[in-house]
Amino acid sequence: MNLILLGPPGSGKGTQARLIRDRHGLVLIATGDILREEIQKETPVGREVKEIIEAGLYPSDDIVLKIFEQRLRQEKAQGVILDGVPRTLNQAEKVDTMFEQLGIKLTMAIQLAVDEEELIKRLSSRRICKSCGAAYTIDLPSRVEEVCDVCSGSDFLRRSDDAPEAVKTRFEVYNEQTKPLIDYYSRTNRLRSIDGMKSVEKVNEQIEGLLRSSQ
Ligand code: AMP
Repeated sequence: MNLILLGPPGSGKGTQARLIRDRHGLVLIATGDILREEIQKETPVGREVKEIIEAGLYPSDDIVLKIFEQRLRQEKAQGVILDGVPRTLNQAEKVDTMFEQLGIKLTMAIQLAVDEEELIKRLSSRRICKSCGAAYTIDLPSRVEEVCDVCSGSDFLRRSDDAPEAVKTRFEVYNEQTKPLIDYYSRTNRLRSIDGMKSVEKVNEQIEGLLRSSQ
């Protein structure tokens, strides 16, 4: 099984991707996580993309596709779930080509639909577990205060691109560059949409329903 998750910032792609990965034994490729790791390690790529990402903009397709393809080639055997990639039409076409070359068949692209008001509420209160990347918001706190539900870590951070100015830019860039992908996958009958406004469990149930119906 090979999946792509689509949706605006804060729609729950990362949270759902982790649940699907754990349940189905897929490899999660999240380009945002890879890029943040490069920034943290201060690699040449990290230095190149840091300010761009912090401003809420996209680094060039060339940079993103290169790191993505490296990861895809290492991991493709087990089935993959993509979070945050592709993000431009050019990336979507290149991902199709890579899949074809590597003999990977896309099972479906799943769109998480969420209102902008709800997205802003989530992003403005989002905190990330430093060790495992699990996300918490005002409406989705950890079960025990200051302790991560997933890994029991106790260090949390706010993403610098969750600052209000960067969030505004991220929505603009999403609407202009990433939203057209919904049409791209829909035209080729590979898109499934679900209501991402519900609880994490309910959204996950909808996804599992889609996956069952595809088998
Ligand atoms: P995410 O963790 O998916 O929200 O990604 C965080 C940031 O990393 C985005 O706002 C972009 O600046 C950058 N990024 C991640 N994936 C991509 C991609 N496929 N194409 C361009 N930029 C990306």
